[in-house]
Amino acid sequence: MSPNIDTVAVHGGEVRPGPEGSVVHPIYQGTVFAVPAGTDYHDIKYLRLSSTPTQNYLHGKLAALEGAEAALATASGMAAISATLLTFLKTGDHIIVGDTLYGGTQDFLDHHAPELGWTVTAVDPAKPETWADALTPTTRAFYVETITNPLMRVGRIPEVAAFAREHGLVSIVDNTFASPVNFRPLEAGCDIVLHSATKYLNGHSDLVAGVVAGSAELVARVRHSLNHYGGSLDAHAAYLLARGVKTLALRVERQNANAAALAEFLAGHESVTTVNYAGQSWHPDHEHARTFLSGFGGMLSLRLAGGVPAAERLIEGLELPYGAPSLGGVESLITRPALTSHAGMTREAREAVGITDDLIRVSCGIESAEDLIADFARALK
Ligand SMILES: *Cc1c(COP(=O)(O)O)cnc(C)c1O
Repeated sequence: MSPNIDTVAVHGGEVRPGPEGSVVHPIYQGTVFAVPAGTDYHDIKYLRLSSTPTQNYLHGKLAALEGAEAALATASGMAAISATLLTFLKTGDHIIVGDTLYGGTQDFLDHHAPELGWTVTAVDPAKPETWADALTPTTRAFYVETITNPLMRVGRIPEVAAFAREHGLVSIVDNTFASPVNFRPLEAGCDIVLHSATKYLNGHSDLVAGVVAGSAELVARVRHSLNHYGGSLDAHAAYLLARGVKTLALRVERQNANAAALAEFLAGHESVTTVNYAGQSWHPDHEHARTFLSGFGGMLSLRLAGGVPAAERLIEGLELPYGAPSLGGVESLITRPALTSHAGMTREAREAVGITDDLIRVSCGIESAEDLIADFARALK
């Protein structure tokens, strides 16, 4: 029987016994290690080559979490995303992407795809019947996010994997919002899973890191390009990330529960007009999301009857959540995506995809649900 994710988070990838019998794997901060004769350049132990003992230890832990043959830690989520796309797409290639992407990913494609000679077609990841129309003879990859920001839409990820396999594409899933506690894309047949480890995996809002996981062969290809692009993760950040991962399951289970309870409270409140949370039966993706997600995550968004002024008063009136972007930490955060994550888009473009100026996004932390709801109830008054 394979162990549960709670156990994997603690014991997965651990080296036993650790160096000197250590229970906590130490930080090897050194940039370089002695090289035996005949070592291939890409196998030299050097921090930029992501091959030093603390990095290797973290890679084992991350691979265990996603049920992957191999994993690679990167200097940020964007380093994982850009190195992966630059590995699998060449000049003249075409990629199919989900129609709502993390702002940085969208900006990367908008600004660099033309100069790299890539073409991009966006599809609705919840509508498999529309995907075949997007295929071209040079389509190489299908890129989606498990749960999208900030409307919490959930694509049909197992169908994305099957479609990609059928048409010879690499399927790439940014699993940041779900975390491996709620969904493991590789088990659903996807080829590559990406994370901004800055969010749930680390969980303490104190480092920036990314992850690429998948088969040994595909991850080796990404690592080879990352060695040249230079976006490796420093050993100290690698150590902190492994430390954060040990409590991942506990944190995310609480964050799932807090978001579900807060969504239910908000949906029943007279000042709230909309709540977006895939765990609730009214959400457009609930029926298919529940077939493969074991939890719906700690993120939700809402709108108030009073529009932007009411949204501002709520954010200012809350005592527990910080008014800040980013997500996935132990402390709750609240923000208006129109001012933060989606500030780069025009109002028309935002409204076309449902990101209105008054939309409020909440990243639930691990506080007590009772206290969070009481804080919202008070601030909504
Ligand atoms: C934050 C985020 C990223 C980018 O990660 P960084 O660590 O900030 O580079 C990518 N995808 C998603 C879904 C994110 O939330």
